[in-house]
Amino acid sequence: MSIIDPEKLAAITRNAGDLSRYSRQLLLPEVSADGQRRIKAARVLCIGAGGLGSPAALYLTAAGIGTLGLVDADRVDVSNLQRQILYGTGDVGEPKLEKARARLQQLNPDVKIVLHEARLTSANATEIIADYDVVIDGSDNFPTRYLSNDVCVFARKPNIYGSVFRFEGQASVFAPHLGGPCYRCLFPEPPPPGAAPSCAEAGVLGVLPGIIGLIQATEALKLIVGAGETLAGRLLHFDALKMKFREFNLRRDPQCPVCGDTPTIFEPIDYEQFCAGPAEADWFAAPESVPTISVRELKAKMDKGEPLALIDVREPFEYEIARIEGSRLIPLGELETHLSELSKNGTLVLQCHSGGRSEHAARILREAGFANAVNLEGGIDAWSVEVDPAVPRY
Ligand SMILES: [Zn+2]
Repeated sequence: MSIIDPEKLAAITRNAGDLSRYSRQLLLPEVSADGQRRIKAARVLCIGAGGLGSPAALYLTAAGIGTLGLVDADRVDVSNLQRQILYGTGDVGEPKLEKARARLQQLNPDVKIVLHEARLTSANATEIIADYDVVIDGSDNFPTRYLSNDVCVFARKPNIYGSVFRFEGQASVFAPHLGGPCYRCLFPEPPPPGAAPSCAEAGVLGVLPGIIGLIQATEALKLIVGAGETLAGRLLHFDALKMKFREFNLRRDPQCPVCGDTPTIFEPIDYEQFCAGPAEADWFAAPESVPTISVRELKAKMDKGEPLALIDVREPFEYEIARIEGSRLIPLGELETHLSELSKNGTLVLQCHSGGRSEHAARILREAGFANAVNLEGGIDAWSVEVDPAVPRY
């Protein structure tokens, strides 16, 4: 279903050149003349006119978005040019937004470009976001990311999230009112400012924000036209070095401070300014090592009745041969489709035959936000030797 209010469509008229300019889009049955009218009626806000905002703004302008708002307060720096393709060498030192508008109007003069030359803060976020149908969060710092998320939840507007770091990026659509979680369902609070190095220290391959920014623009167009399945409830992770996309199912946290059943945050909050890249990247970057638990420690926890879930990631035939009482079988290959059934509370112990597959499983879970996932050292084999000889070895 399209997010564009049907009442707004009545006022939309076609320009003389629209048929030829948008013909390749109009030819698509999923878009057609009706979808193009929705695109023309749409008001999209890009928070940040940098690495993610540049490609998103260029393609949305080319697609004929009615109104494109840009929020940014920076000037063009020569180090931006490697990825912020709205700008050229001659723009260095100039305010970004003026230069962005000139470039975008040259591409498509029919699009109304609205400039918000400011940093998004708790004082202006509600008012700015209120004017738009959908928000593309192209920010590179935690305070803006939380602000954009919270205000979009309050205002029931989809917040299209994207972030990049080194060779990896990720995107999702946060729109609890349409289904799925918000950013705070995954990360209730920002990490302490000292935990992250400065933005200038975080490298990124120049093409990466291009890919993620265009995934964000794609999701905006789908929401506007009402076609396809959006990333609401899913996190798409991209690894440029492996050239792999992976997908994680996300679910709304009923305890979420903004979109949960008993919210505790009702006003926009300003957090101390610091860079989002490196700290957030811990979420998906392969950690040096996965935390482990020994079979004796596991036995002690079980005997004490501590809250834990034991997930056996072996194959069903192995489970038939030997199993630890109370374990649940989810073969490694099926793990990613069962994420929504696993709890982030208590200890999540991953177990296999001798600890190799379960280490991989624990890593997948930790990357998907399960900070409670640990690997059972030595697997069921160690369990049989050290804890319970009644469990057959194989
Ligand atoms: Zn939430």
